[in-house]
Amino acid sequence: MNVFTQTHLPKDGWIKGCFVCSRPTSNIKSYNYKEKVNTVFLCKNCEKQNINSTVPNIFIYSFQEKLNRYINENTLEPFKARTYSLDPPIIRRYHQPKIPTPPPQTLDDIV
Ligand SMILES: [Zn+2]
Repeated sequence: MNVFTQTHLPKDGWIKGCFVCSRPTSNIKSYNYKEKVNTVFLCKNCEKQNINSTVPNIFIYSFQEKLNRYINENTLEPFKARTYSLDPPIIRRYHQPKIPTPPPQTLDDIV
């Protein structure tokens, strides 16, 4: 998902509004969340303020919270659910109970 602020800028353009201050920027950061890679538009100034300097490529906690909330609220319904394998289901063989065969009947038994 592309994370940015809506601006007057063209929808398909490579310059978007900074997620924090909405200034036009082409500076992007990759952000992994829920096993998906998101692209965050963040101007250099906001990047400096929100990057955790002790761990490379990690945002500060409050910013990350805001980012996660945005991603959760803007993820389309089909992508929210867990993905299921398209492989056919495994059919387990089950054992039928053995029915004992009746003893052979003779004419004397019937009469
Ligand atoms: Zn900014």
